[in-house]
Amino acid sequence: MLNIILMGPPGAGKGTQAVDIAEHFHIPHISTGDMFREAIANKTPLGLQAKAIIDQGGLVPDSLTIDLVKDRLSKDDCANGYLLDGFPRTIPQAEALAELGPKIGRAVNLAVNISVPDEILVDRIAQRRVCPKCGASYHLVNRKPAKDGICDRCGSELIQRKDDNAESFKVRLENYNKQTSPLLDYYKKAGFLHEFNGNQAVETIRQEVFSLLEANQ
Ligand code: ADP
Ligand code: ZN
Repeated sequence: MLNIILMGPPGAGKGTQAVDIAEHFHIPHISTGDMFREAIANKTPLGLQAKAIIDQGGLVPDSLTIDLVKDRLSKDDCANGYLLDGFPRTIPQAEALAELGPKIGRAVNLAVNISVPDEILVDRIAQRRVCPKCGASYHLVNRKPAKDGICDRCGSELIQRKDDNAESFKVRLENYNKQTSPLLDYYKKAGFLHEFNGNQAVETIRQEVFSLLEANQ
């Protein structure tokens, strides 16, 4: 069973790997960041609450985030595996997931962590462009789209995320170090943490992660 959580600092390449994993293993890609951005675009009550926090690089309150994931994970399409990208990000979120998962027969069994040194993350975030429609991610130098400004996968126009600026990034990295990195220990103790070096070619990381997932299918 592939009930996966994907972890790593902002800019580690989670989103890029997540899109490929979900496609190849036929499991839903559940990105809390994407869900919040969609809520913001649609101006839902959740989106209105989350917008300023996200733009500045902060974390959306646990209660809102946990409710969102509970609903999503309970949907039928998660019955045969799922890939959580960007959740959990705090210990209370991990605890909520540890309680919910077994209750609905969908306990996490793999935690994939992608790590990258801070100085590389700064560059990646500055050069990142994303597809607002399908979630694909590009780098203006290292991973250019075939056609400038256009998504290879779906043809939509690429954008720069509002929180991909130096100031917001600093806050995101601080939050990661303070609130999210303790989860590595948490999942190590639980016995299902798998670590990957994210400072390699996208394809290399993909191969390494795919072999882990193939062995656990
Ligand atoms: P990143 O590239 O930083 O990993 P994401 O797309 O995963 O970005 O998330 C973007 C933003 O959405 C975060 O900086 C945060 O404000 C909010 N967010 C996403 N997931 C969570 C979560 N699990 N808890 C709280 N806030 C979250
Ligand atoms: Zn796209």
